[in-house]
Formats: sequence, C-alpha cells, structure tokens
Amino acid sequence: ISPKSIVSDACASYSTLDALNQKVKPAVDDLTRGTDFFSHYRLNLFNKACPFWSDEDAMCGNQACAVATLDNEEDIPKIWRASELGKLEGPLAKHPGRKLQKERPQKPLQGLLGENVGESCVVEYDDECDERDYCVPEDESATAKGDYVSLVQNPERFTGYTGDSAKMVWDAIYRENCFQKSSFPHSASLGMTSAPRGPAAHDFRAVLQDAGRQQMLEQQFNNNQMQASASAGLEYEDECLEKRVFYRVVSGMHTSISAHICWEYLNQTTGEWQPNLQCYYHRLHTHPERLSNLYFNYALLTRAIAKLGSHLQGYTYCTGDRDQDADTKAKVLAVTQGASSVPEIFDESLMFKNGEGPSLKEDFRNRFRNVSRIMDCVGCDKCRLWGKLQTAGYGTALKVLFEFDNESKEVPVLKRTELVALFNTYSRLSNSMAHVRYFRNLLEGSEKEK
Ligand code: FAD
Repeated sequence: ISPKSIVSDACASYSTLDALNQKVKPAVDDLTRGTDFFSHYRLNLFNKACPFWSDEDAMCGNQACAVATLDNEEDIPKIWRASELGKLEGPLAKHPGRKLQKERPQKPLQGLLGENVGESCVVEYDDECDERDYCVPEDESATAKGDYVSLVQNPERFTGYTGDSAKMVWDAIYRENCFQKSSFPHSASLGMTSAPRGPAAHDFRAVLQDAGRQQMLEQQFNNNQMQASASAGLEYEDECLEKRVFYRVVSGMHTSISAHICWEYLNQTTGEWQPNLQCYYHRLHTHPERLSNLYFNYALLTRAIAKLGSHLQGYTYCTGDRDQDADTKAKVLAVTQGASSVPEIFDESLMFKNGEGPSLKEDFRNRFRNVSRIMDCVGCDKCRLWGKLQTAGYGTALKVLFEFDNESKEVPVLKRTELVALFNTYSRLSNSMAHVRYFRNLLEGSEKEK
C-alpha cells in the first residue's frame, strides 16, 4: 500500500485517512470510553437462535466447537480457555439513566433527531423494522428487549474462537456478496426469481420453518460454502460499484476484527495481552486488499458521521444528569466536526444510480440485513456482542448514506442503539487503523535493520 495512492472506491488517499484518524481518534476514544451513553449498548445477545443452521449439529453456534479446536486445551489454565475468554465479563451493566428513563412520562415511539427530546429519554419500545433499515433492529422482539452491556468492560480482543464454527459464519457472510447467484437461503434455491425480491423472500425465520426445505438448503449450503469467501474475494474487482462496496464493507469489518485480535492477543505463556506481530503479518500484512477495505470502511463511516453531524446538534442525550448531557453532546460534536474536516471522502451519490445500480438497492439492503442476522450464529458471547454491534453500526451508516438524500431536508430517524453502534463501529475502525500503523512501523523498522 502506497500512502499517496487513493483508496479505491473512496475519494481519499491512505495518508489522508491516516492523518484524519490521528486527528479525530482522541475525540472518538473520549466519546466511546468517557460517556455512559456511548459506552453502553443494549442488545439481545442470548435469546435469538441462529436462524440458518441448527446448533445441535455442533458445526457452529456453540462454544464447544470453538473450544475443541484449541490445542492442548486442558493444559491451559481455566481462565485462559476459549470458553472463558469468550464470555462476557461482569454482570450485565445497567445503564445509569435507565431507571430515570422509566420514571419519565413515555413518549409514543421513538423521538426524532433534531427535536428537543432525544430518543434516549423515552423507553425504547418501537419494534417496527423501518423499510429503510439495513440491519435487523436490536430491539426487534417485543418480548425480549435485551440488556445493556458495558463495551468498556468487554473489549474486543482474542478469545480463542476459531475452527469450523467461525469459518462457517464467515463463509455465510461472504456468501451474501453473491448477488443474483445461488446462495443460501436465497431465492434461487427456493425456486424464486432473483429480482426483485421483497422482504418476505428474505425472511429466514419463515424460510426455516419449512423443515423439508431446510434440509435441502443446508445440504446445498454445505456443498457450496468452501467456495464462498474465495470466489467473493476474487471476483469483486470486476463487479459494479454497489457489489464492490458490499464486499468491501464486509471484508473491512473482518479486517478490523482481525486487527483487534492481533493487537490484544493472549500470550498463553505469560498470561499477558499483547500485540502479536505474526498474527498481523499472516492475517493482514500479506493481504493488502484487506487493509484497503479497512481504510475504505473508515472513509464510508467518516462520511456518514459527517452527514449526520448537523442533525445531531439538537439531539438530547438523556443520561439523567444535565452536566453529563452537555458533556456527551460536546464530545459528539468534537467527533462530527473532525469527521467533517475532510470533505468529499466518499461520494454516496454515485451509488445505485447507473447501469444495474438502481435495481440492486433492495437486494443490497436485504443482503446486509442477512449479514446482521448471521451474527446470531456466532458461537462466542464476546465475539457475538462485537459482531452484532458492528453490523448494526455499518447498517446505520448505510441507512444514513443511501436513504437520506443530500438535498432533502428530511432528518434521519435513528434509535439510540443505532447511534451507539455507529460511533462505536467508527471507534473500532479508528483503533484498527492505529494498530495497523503500529505493526507496519515495526515491520518497516526491522526491514531497515536488515
Ligand atoms: P478467519 O479470520 O476465520 O478467516 C476465514 C477466511 O476468510 C480466511 O481463510 C480468508 O480466506 C478469508 N479472510 C480473512 N480475512 C479476510 C478479510 N479481511 N477480507 C476478506 N477475506 C478474508 N475471534 C476472536 O478471537 N475475538 C473476536 O472478537 C472475534 N470476533 C469474531 C466475530 C465474528 C462475527 C466472527 C465470525 C468471528 C470472530 N472471531 C473472533 C473469530 C476470528 O474472526 C477468526 O475466525 C478466527 O480467529 C480464525 O481465524 P483464521 O485465521 O482461521 O481466519
């Protein structure tokens, strides 16, 4: 990667994005670590079954298969075993403002950004999926509202989750990139036409209730899965912009997760968490396109946050304390102003415009929703937490970019969970870029010494 070259499909160079990150990162860290509002995420982590395959076949979706893949597991002290590392730490956090929120008079449905009353001031009980959503809302189920989890207490890092389970999840995610090709459990295998597809064709729970078909679909999925990520990666450069963007988002998220794993890797001899250069070298350094996708995602989210920026000025962060509200607002503005400092970083107006673009939009949205559903198949609690948060964060960014016209005065309607996911996903990318710089400098230093 040459610092001066432009990140493809974005409008900025690697060095511009690195410089921007160095400038904005302190504000992003301050927001996501230093405010109650943004350091707690509410999600339904335990009550949603994997909608694609059964946990019983032990191919994925349970911790046991991750544990089994570790060498000499019994030699490792219990607290360092994958099953332990992947667990959430501490009791599920209670959001400090939660009690207060309940005591306040409830407003119907969610608030709007830009009003005096932010959504966090009301009990979040809007379970409707907006047709413009790119992911399944975390508060989807009326009965299971989920819990608040402290993101600071549960850092994204090495957990030992690996093997067939993790591989199957990644393969299923990359399979979503196969637009208009046979893919589990999409329309081709169901005997439907490939486009246009309505939400019903993408409702996997409905699909999986059909037990006879499920068996056939699983068979086909298993047969094809080995080719999925490889073919998605090889072909994407020839694809149209929209399909490339889809692949880049997913691959960039994967890169970011890997960067966090390599940055806080468990040294099982000393028991210390430390950067692991080998891990970085093999997973990322030798795959420049994966690094490029990380930078692409940073440009994409920067643009989404900049676009949202002016609308956030009137948002009220009801933490239950006036000073904290003002502090949170100031920290959000520091990030949005920083993100706005490089204009034209990504041009969303080019998407879904030319050629087959317009016809792809619904497919793109539905496929991204599927990626968010696949997260319920991740068989490690901490990985699932961060996987769900990040797909929700990208889903929010895509919604802001593609569902709200630049010229229109329409204000994006976002739930609290979407805002928290968006800024924390931005923080993941920001940290990953800093980790990559660190590793690259180490490698360049050792090259010079030779
Ligand atoms: P994997 O990372 O599993 O990759 C599988 C294949 O995908 C590779 O062989 C390669 O062909 C392709 N690939 C890899 N990277 C990219 C990329 N950036 N772009 C395109 N293709 C790529 N483990 C943890 O320790 N901590 C976590 O927090 C964690 N979170 C996870 C979250 C999710 C959603 C998932 C699915 C897994 C998570 N894991 C986590 C597991 C981790 O991502 C790896 O699967 C695991 O470490 C095994 O890595 P691997 O080297 O076998 O390759």
